[in-house]
Amino acid sequence: MSHIFPRHTRQQPPVAVGGDGCYLIDNNGKRYLDASGGAAVSCLGHSDRTVVNAIKTQIDQLAFAHTGFFTSEPAEKLADLLIANAPGELNRVYLVSGGSEATEAAIKLARQYWVEKGEAKRGRLIARKQSYHGNTIGSLSAGGNEWRRAQFGPLLLDVSHIDPCYEYRHRRDDETAEDYGLRAAQALEEEILRLGPETVMAFMAEPVVGATAGALAPAPGYFKRIREICDKYGVLLILDEVMCGMGRTGSLFACEQDGVAPDIVCIAKGLGAGYQPIGAMLCTSEIYGAIEAGSGFFQHGHTYVGHPTAAACGLAVVGSILERDLVARVREQGDKLAARLEDRFGQHPHVGDLRGRGLFRGIELVDDKDTKAPFDPAKGVAGKVKKSAFEAGLICYPMSGTIDGKTGDHVLLAPPFIIEDGQLDELVDKLAGAISAAI
Ligand code: PMP
Repeated sequence: MSHIFPRHTRQQPPVAVGGDGCYLIDNNGKRYLDASGGAAVSCLGHSDRTVVNAIKTQIDQLAFAHTGFFTSEPAEKLADLLIANAPGELNRVYLVSGGSEATEAAIKLARQYWVEKGEAKRGRLIARKQSYHGNTIGSLSAGGNEWRRAQFGPLLLDVSHIDPCYEYRHRRDDETAEDYGLRAAQALEEEILRLGPETVMAFMAEPVVGATAGALAPAPGYFKRIREICDKYGVLLILDEVMCGMGRTGSLFACEQDGVAPDIVCIAKGLGAGYQPIGAMLCTSEIYGAIEAGSGFFQHGHTYVGHPTAAACGLAVVGSILERDLVARVREQGDKLAARLEDRFGQHPHVGDLRGRGLFRGIELVDDKDTKAPFDPAKGVAGKVKKSAFEAGLICYPMSGTIDGKTGDHVLLAPPFIIEDGQLDELVDKLAGAISAAI
């Protein structure tokens, strides 16, 4: 009997004992094709010797030194590498232990920036419905996942949530994708004006929405317009690339494909590839400069900020992604996965939408394809897909999200960048079986 929580099922879970490339292995020797990397974490698979060796070398030399006293070589090198490859003017780095720590830090950094600038009225954050930014109180407040927020209402910050950019459900028949992108972005301007621009500190969004919406990519031009609106009112743009960053969508930072650079970006999962807990927040020197010129330092901190072993891991992961040009591989294998999903599910009566970028793909399951009506939540379709897939040896990430106030089901796929063609076939075969068993 396991005494560890959380447990995501009522049954005793199998014990994971090994990893081999794209597969996880349990204590009965059963192999599971990892098509979600947990939650889009394991971009290099489960047995990358380069990363393991980098971690071992670092621990042998120095496991930990507190940033209150020291910096370390791997942390400095990782920061330099991220800056060299980041879009726009992102040239200051804050290393943390995961995604929620990165988004939480981003919210506080944005607030402190405005205070240091003498605009203390700017305390309001705008984010989007159907988003997830983490599980700490600040990041949970930013997220629009109603199910996760439900019990914590009184503790949450007062964040405005505008509609997401959700072409499949919100684009009108008489609109082009571009028209819709511009209209969706206007929701931000309306909310800024409603609140009063002098009270708004930042807008936070995932460029490609992961857990709550199943690899939902923006309509063309959406983020360009968002950037313009932020600039017009002096609102900071915080992009949460915790899930979609580090090559997952076919560019190192997902926002590169939208032609925008944020003021602050958060990354995590693919940064450590699961080998160490690590996340990062990058910001512009305009932001950090204001803080340095004011009180001098960011009023924040965790014991494991800039952890040398985690940084050595991140350095090896990002170094591998760049040296092996895995981002190009993501585009290639991503196109193949998209084609296989289209072949298998394009005409499926319960597949409403196939979407995503690179090796970040989503399938929206619907009860009625013509009306786009979601399934009755009582059917628990997403949970059943997850269970059947797992039994068949496939790990995918089905979720029940909130779609326009109703619960909807989708499946998120985020396999390792090293996935081979035969494994893409295995993925799609097993997923098709799981969906048939669930519906
Ligand atoms: N932001 C996004 C977009 C995420 O997908 C997640 C994790 N699913 C987080 C933040 C929080 O990251 P973590 O679970 O590492 O705290």
